[in-house]
Amino acid sequence: MSMFDELGDGIYRRRYESLDLNIGVVIGDDGVLLIDSRASHRQADELRDELRTLTDLPVGWVVNTHFHWDHTWGNARFPEATIWGHDRCRSEMIENGEVARQGVLEWMPAEYHEMVEEVEITPPTHTFAETASLHIGRSVELGYHGLGHTNSDIAIRVGSVMFAGDLLEEGAPPSFGDSYPLDWGRTLTTLPNAELIVPGHGDVVGARFRQTQTQEIQAVAELAKDGHRGGKPFAELINDGPYPGPTMEAALGRAYAQLDGDL
Ligand SMILES: [Zn+2]
Repeated sequence: MSMFDELGDGIYRRRYESLDLNIGVVIGDDGVLLIDSRASHRQADELRDELRTLTDLPVGWVVNTHFHWDHTWGNARFPEATIWGHDRCRSEMIENGEVARQGVLEWMPAEYHEMVEEVEITPPTHTFAETASLHIGRSVELGYHGLGHTNSDIAIRVGSVMFAGDLLEEGAPPSFGDSYPLDWGRTLTTLPNAELIVPGHGDVVGARFRQTQTQEIQAVAELAKDGHRGGKPFAELINDGPYPGPTMEAALGRAYAQLDGDL
C-alpha cells in the first residue's frame, strides 16, 4: 500500500505523523508540483525519497500555502524547483523568519535543536497578490481569498481537489496565533467549491466540515465583537466559545487586537 493517498488522477497527499501535516503532490507532464515542503531539511529529504515511489520526474514547483515554519522549512531542499507563494508569505519569511526560529527553539526539545538550526529559511521567489495559474501539463490555480489563519494563506485547486493549507484544520482546533479571526470566516466562504478538501493538518474533508469550521470561526468573531462592545476583558469569554480554553484565548486575543486596531 502506498504511503500516498491518490485523491484524483495524479493528485496525491501524504499525511505525516509528525505534526499531522499534509503534503500535496501533483504530477505534471515534465515535473512534480509539491504543496508545502515540511518542517526541516531532514523531513524534506525524507519526502524527496518517498516521491521516488510515485515518479521519476523532478520536482519543478513548490507552492507554500502560507509562511509557517512547519509548511516551509523544507523549501531549501528543492533547489531545482520554483517556489511559489503569496507576496506576504515571502515578506514574512524574510522579515520574521529568524524570530520564528527563535520561537520554535524555545519550546522544541534540545535533541531537535540542530535540526532547526540547520534550516536555511528560503522564501518563495515567485509571488502574487490575488491569483496565479501554473501550467504543468494540467492547470493548477492558486488563489488568495482574504485574511484568515495568517495574512497570506492561499488555496490551491487542481481537478476536483482543493488544498486549503491551515485555513482549515482537521483533528485539532484551528490555530489562531497569527490569525485574523474577524475576517477568517468570510474568507472561508469565498474559497472555491471542491469535492475533496485537504487541510494543512489532519484528514481529508468535504463541504460539510468546511461549513462547520466556518460557523465555529464566525461564532468566535461574534463572541469577541459582543464582548468588546460590552467592555468585557476577553479572558472572561474563553469558556463561551466553540474551542478549548487555550485556543479561545489565542483567538480572542487576536480578535480583540483587531477590534482595537492593533493588527
Ligand atoms: Zn499554519
